[in-house]
Amino acid sequence: MSEAGSISTEQLRLWDKRHVWHPFTQMQEWERDEQIIIVKGEGCWLIDTDGKRYLDGVASMWTNVHGHCRRELNDALKEQVDRLEHSTLLGLASEQSIILAARLAEITPPGLDRFFYSDNGSTAMEVAVKMAYQYQVHKGRPERSRFITFRNAYHGDTLGAVSVGGIGIYHTTFRPLMFETLQAPSPYCYRCELGYKSDSCDWECVKALEELMEQNVGQVAGLVIEPLVQGAGGMIVQPAGFLKCVRELCDRYDILMIADEVATGFGRTGEMFACNHESVIPDIMAISKGIAAGYLPLAATVTGEKVYSAFLGSYSELKTFFHGHTFTGNPLACAVALKSLQLFKQDNLLAELQPKIARLKMRLDDFMSMPHVGDVRQCGLAAGVELVENKETGSPYPWEDSVGIRVCLEARKRGIFSRPLGNTIVIFPPLVISNSELDMLLDVLYESIRVVTE
Ligand SMILES: *Cc1c(COP(=O)(O)O)cnc(C)c1O
Repeated sequence: MSEAGSISTEQLRLWDKRHVWHPFTQMQEWERDEQIIIVKGEGCWLIDTDGKRYLDGVASMWTNVHGHCRRELNDALKEQVDRLEHSTLLGLASEQSIILAARLAEITPPGLDRFFYSDNGSTAMEVAVKMAYQYQVHKGRPERSRFITFRNAYHGDTLGAVSVGGIGIYHTTFRPLMFETLQAPSPYCYRCELGYKSDSCDWECVKALEELMEQNVGQVAGLVIEPLVQGAGGMIVQPAGFLKCVRELCDRYDILMIADEVATGFGRTGEMFACNHESVIPDIMAISKGIAAGYLPLAATVTGEKVYSAFLGSYSELKTFFHGHTFTGNPLACAVALKSLQLFKQDNLLAELQPKIARLKMRLDDFMSMPHVGDVRQCGLAAGVELVENKETGSPYPWEDSVGIRVCLEARKRGIFSRPLGNTIVIFPPLVISNSELDMLLDVLYESIRVVTE
């Protein structure tokens, strides 16, 4: 019998502090506090060892789609585990990974129908970057080795993914280990780094991007972008039309466009993929987080004939893509992902989402009038509320004040689990959240912001 359930909360807390090194966490502070230990999930709720319930306001790090412990997904997983738990894609094919690729090809942007599986968002991006460069090599232009990235971008934590990222606090330490990129301005209208205001701006950041391409003609392999919204950078929503401009520039300068749909994919923005909003078809697309509904680690780097066919040739031509991860195409993860796609249809999830997105939009207006809310940004069922010390000037709270974290601790007392991005409060619930749960989430966040900032 499993030990789970038989070990006291006290013992679990001790072992956690003694043995578990948590991600993105100052462990000295972690060890001082009494931590919540989750043992159960139910719909949008997480339940701790004392039976206390928390609404999962960040969809368990932006992964959860159909709720926790959804019966159909549990059944699909149980059924698969009794057939096959894992077998490799190196030298063998496996049933679930084949069916999933075929089903995904029906919903990905037109022409994107070649799936290279891996385990997480970072690996999907590593694959994208290496694939883009090797493509250029096969095209006879190995000098095209640079990548265009955006400030405030986040593409994961492995070194290649960090290299194409643009968030100082996460990335600066590792600068000596990273490869250099060409960084374009972040389309962050509230804090425009070029000094423009939305009403006086004539797409200056697009012009800057074009200049960067112009100055580096013939040297750039690919451009890496989070479509519509820079997530980890602070839910920075791009102005409508920006993505389309980026696609056109990539075409004009013959640069591969790599769309990181790790956070935005699988319905989050109100469409299956964020690129769909602007009818943009990237050359390479990375998907992960929501792909297996938040159940298991799974990712894919997706491309089409243009890139795929450049890798074809006899073995001796050395055109093989020499890259692979041990658990590539894991059947358990693929089985859940397949069932998740069925649930999207069965539950009419994308259509059901639209009124919730509208409700979120309406409720966010209340936040905008709060004295310490500088900006409110929404993209589908994701939003960020940026807190500022001075609303007039937009001057931020000093990061050492941990205003975002304090708001989330207040929210936790009121039964909401949330996790901020600096001074930005994040709203990113499971897509199946009900209207009343969404109201509760927003009521509690509003109240928590009020308590901390007023
Ligand atoms: C989370 C995230 C990643 C990294 O995914 P991991 O699974 O944490 O490696 C990459 N890109 C974006 C846009 C993300 O939000």
